[in-house]
Amino acid sequence: MTVTADEDVLAEPRPCARCSQPSLLWVAGRCADCIAQLGLQDDSAEYRSWKDDVRTEFGRK
Ligand SMILES: [Zn+2]
Repeated sequence: MTVTADEDVLAEPRPCARCSQPSLLWVAGRCADCIAQLGLQDDSAEYRSWKDDVRTEFGRK
């Protein structure tokens, strides 16, 4: 797996709020793997919940 650092994502190891795995690439507390899984789930409730967290974290403009 190749991890690329996005300028908008803090590249800092932190445990994922969902799977508890330390990850260098996470957004709004979820690691990249979990975010990918959220988008693939049939039930989009958790994905929408994450999107709300993203909006809370990055939506202050
Ligand atoms: Zn995770």
